[in-house]
Amino acid sequence: MPSKLSVKQYGFLAGSLAYVVGIFFLDISTPSTYNESVLLVLAFSLVYPVRRIWAIGLVFSATITAAILTAFFEPGADTDLGTWANIWILVIVESGVAFMTWRVMGIENALYQLSNTDPLTGAFNRRHFMTLMDRERKIAERYETPLSLLLLDIDHFKRINDTYGHPTGDEAIKAIAETCRRQVRSTDTFCRYGGEEFIVALPQTDEAGAVIAAEHLRKGVSKIEIMADDGRPVRFTVSIGVASFVRKSTVEQLIECADQALYAAKLGGRNQVQIGKYDSIDAALSREH
Ligand code: GH3
Ligand code: MG
Ligand code: MG
Repeated sequence: MPSKLSVKQYGFLAGSLAYVVGIFFLDISTPSTYNESVLLVLAFSLVYPVRRIWAIGLVFSATITAAILTAFFEPGADTDLGTWANIWILVIVESGVAFMTWRVMGIENALYQLSNTDPLTGAFNRRHFMTLMDRERKIAERYETPLSLLLLDIDHFKRINDTYGHPTGDEAIKAIAETCRRQVRSTDTFCRYGGEEFIVALPQTDEAGAVIAAEHLRKGVSKIEIMADDGRPVRFTVSIGVASFVRKSTVEQLIECADQALYAAKLGGRNQVQIGKYDSIDAALSREH
């Protein structure tokens, strides 16, 4: 149990307690299970929108408790066949709802994976990256904290595909994604930006820190060795463009800055890190104002 509960969690606990007391009271004081059923449905509908799994757990345990109370403790209870049928119908209906909810949660999860991740590497896709970046940019702007970007592109990747075949190219992409995912911090956002391009957002990281992270990734990738289908070892390198957030700039401008740096790294001979200059971006900004 968390040491500090939120107001909502306290509210839920208080509501649950009141609910259990209510069920207990109704169960002891009335011979019929109808009042309890109404209370049960009411609680379920109130809690369900907050947290589905809580709603199911709450109603399930309350039904079982009510069944036990009815069977063993209720003075003069009409524990005839009809009462038991009511209770078991309730349990069966709840089981059905629980099962359906579990399935819906599974489908929601699959949809989230499909729309936000790249199937080859399991990394976030560009769409999700842009959503996350928008938030990171707002935080950096609001609290005046640094934010940097790394844009990676595999060097001479066409050659790898042409020499060893497309499946080996895919293996290279997967190996780079794995290495990057392992090396970046848990607060960084790593994503497959395009075919053989990756992008990493580094919150709370200035340009100097971003260059260190980029060098770390560049060296990490240069140590990877995969096997082609015919058993030949395959090695590769990446070029990396670094850009750091400048106040009032947009995510697109930040990416553009990293892209320019990446281009410079390619021109400079590849397998290297270059830092983006904001000059052209600054010019674009001043034109806007
Ligand atoms: P450079 O060093 O200038 O980056 O050269 P390059 O050959 O890597 O050039 P470029 O970045 O334009 O190459 C992109 C290639 O990546 C072209 C495309 O066939 C390949 N590619 C893109 N997506 C995939 C993929 O999912 N799997 C494989 N195997 N290849 C891909
Ligand atoms: Mg490319
Ligand atoms: Mg490339």
